[in-house]
Amino acid sequence: MSGLYIHIPYCERKCDYCAFYSISKPWKNEREFFQCLELDIEKAQARYPEFSPTTLFIGGGTPTATSFQCLETFLPTLGKFSPTEFSVEVNPGTVDEAQLSLLQKNGVNRLSIGVQSFDIQCLETLGRIHSAEEAEDAFRKARAVGFTNISLDLMFGVPGQTLEMLEADIERALQLDPEHISVYNLMYEEGTPIAARLDRLDEELEREMYDVLRNRLTGTGFEHYEISNFAKPGHECQHNLLYWTGGDYIGCGPSAHSHMHGTRWATVADLERYLAFYRTKPIPSVGPHEFEETLNAEAKDRETLVMGLRLLRGVKISSKVWNNHAAVFQTLEKEGLLVIEGHHIRLSDEALFVSNAVFSELV
Ligand code: SF4
Repeated sequence: MSGLYIHIPYCERKCDYCAFYSISKPWKNEREFFQCLELDIEKAQARYPEFSPTTLFIGGGTPTATSFQCLETFLPTLGKFSPTEFSVEVNPGTVDEAQLSLLQKNGVNRLSIGVQSFDIQCLETLGRIHSAEEAEDAFRKARAVGFTNISLDLMFGVPGQTLEMLEADIERALQLDPEHISVYNLMYEEGTPIAARLDRLDEELEREMYDVLRNRLTGTGFEHYEISNFAKPGHECQHNLLYWTGGDYIGCGPSAHSHMHGTRWATVADLERYLAFYRTKPIPSVGPHEFEETLNAEAKDRETLVMGLRLLRGVKISSKVWNNHAAVFQTLEKEGLLVIEGHHIRLSDEALFVSNAVFSELV
């Protein structure tokens, strides 16, 4: 099992909370970027001839903000792969029926729609480019075109958001009847407008919001399978499961991360440097990377442990990992943050909201 992630670095406009690498309009070199992307993927296949991804994921940025013509030319080049899951991130403010049909015609079988909220005040605070109605419209159009596996992103902890506003968001999301819902606690990333402008909500209120989300979604047939992710049976995101289980994946496009057989690297988070690399003749066989490193066995074990603990089912650990971390495991268990069952460990329900603090004890 392996995955291919493709990062599209364009957005209509930058959201106020976003720290992902993307550039907002006006942008240039769009056609050249897609040509470079094809070369990037070919380069990855030349380096790993056995690479045959079982999942494809196009994210960003905003894949659906790019021109129809570029997508129409690029998507068929992925036809050489035979993934069981092919996801594309969709922004409700930049999608129409023609584009959704194009995605489906090219084998996309899962959409992840960035709704974030149905509340006008929250959408404005986040700096989103779409309305609640446009989000619902995008979902219905996707269904009409034939998509049967759709995920919605929701956000909680938005400045000014109340418990009632969040509950209304959940109900509106459930009315659409999606197969998957991701819920993210708003992060105040350094350098983002929202971090400079607004104070975060009270932590107890955020915890209560997380509990409300969990209870409502699990009470409606969703399985809570990862800290931020809920799925109807059989609809867990297979691509993201690769990340959480230490699987192999290659990321193409600026800022994309990769992990193959214990070696990991990140492509430069800079579109100009990315394009310049592919203008070089002959194109170097490796790069343009921010870094590349091969993890030693201990670092790999630690990473697999922390990523695996993101899953509610937890992880099975080897005797070696147990011996290296036994004291920390036992302390966390005493504090009620970890559940230990033989050589299998998982976060307790209480630890899910403070998972980063728990992980910091393990790295
Ligand atoms: S649309 Fe997505 S990637 Fe683009 S700025 Fe907003 S959150 Fe970031």
